Amino acid sequence: MERIPVAGPWITEKEVRYVADAAQNAWYANANVYNDRFEKAFAEFIGTSYAISLPSCTSAIHLSLLALGVGPGDEVVVPDATWIASAAPVSYVGATPVFADMDPQTWCMDPASLEACITPRTKAVIVVDLYGNMPDMDGILEVATRHGLPVIEDAAEAFGSEYGGRKAGSLGRTGVFSFHGSKTLTTGEGGMLVTDDKDLYQRCLFLRDHGRVPGDTMFENTEVAYKYKMSALQAAFGLAQVERAGELVGRKREIFTWYRSALAEVDGLAFNPEGPGVKNSYWMVTVVPEGPADKKAIIAGLSERGVDARPFFNPLSSIKAYAGSEQAGKARDRNRVSYAICPKGVNLPSGMNLDQEMVNRVCSALLEVLGL
Ligand SMILES: *Cc1c(COP(=O)(O)O)cnc(C)c1O
Repeated sequence: MERIPVAGPWITEKEVRYVADAAQNAWYANANVYNDRFEKAFAEFIGTSYAISLPSCTSAIHLSLLALGVGPGDEVVVPDATWIASAAPVSYVGATPVFADMDPQTWCMDPASLEACITPRTKAVIVVDLYGNMPDMDGILEVATRHGLPVIEDAAEAFGSEYGGRKAGSLGRTGVFSFHGSKTLTTGEGGMLVTDDKDLYQRCLFLRDHGRVPGDTMFENTEVAYKYKMSALQAAFGLAQVERAGELVGRKREIFTWYRSALAEVDGLAFNPEGPGVKNSYWMVTVVPEGPADKKAIIAGLSERGVDARPFFNPLSSIKAYAGSEQAGKARDRNRVSYAICPKGVNLPSGMNLDQEMVNRVCSALLEVLGL
């Protein structure tokens, strides 16, 4: 039987048509047409004033930190349990990541842990909408506002999720997205920064184009900066995808309901939470066994049965990349919830190519592996 992959996109004739058109026509006077259309459609979908298409989400976080003036000696609070891309740009600007614990209700940053991580050196907060889930944003924003801290919302995994009727990515000073091939909306590789803040928007445009004022044609760079642009071919691809946003998010939610109904009778498994007022776009269907469990053994057992799965992110404070960091040591002692959930959680196949029969196969394999 064919292996069931863990992630992958949903591509139609529309994407192919737009990219072919860009390859032929997005040059000369039309060089920016697809980037402009993609940014406009994306901002409209998210409900923000501005959007900037970028090569990755990592670059979007880097630009957010630069534009907010975060630099050497500053601290930035990030969740302990996330992909390293959420935190790595903090080091790019010479600042220090401080790892906050997880809220067991949301798997995202716990507002109380955020508050405990704040010091006089804290300059910003990066929250992550993990696997499509949303944090308690009222709690996060209350703490951040009281301390005068800007929030960067890493919505890389939450395209189409909503909190209180507002789209994921629109709740912080900036919101950042990834269009990596595994994400709900893809351009192969790519990213987007969204914001309502005009000054921040203009500063990001300047910083992402080698420190040129937009419109500069005389190569009069006024600062040494960065080169973070998305190609027209990727933008054409992304435009086709964002025009299909309803379909893409709808399929993700449908896949989740297939899992839930297949495992409805099974006790002892926690799934992605969907808090009150939240619409979860379920980037990755994720299960956390309530009893003791080892994600590596579960993944190996699924693999033997032809099912590809992924581990729940490791706490960043536990991985070699941060082994030398004093903050990681503190986080290891403090972050009880992250250290309870991360070793057990498994992301199940959530690719757009799944059908209900494949989901049933995954669920049978999972029950066998867990002995349920
Ligand atoms: C995928 C992902 C990123 C990184 O996106 P890139 O486009 O690969 O830079 C950042 N944060 C989270 C939470 C992600 O899942």
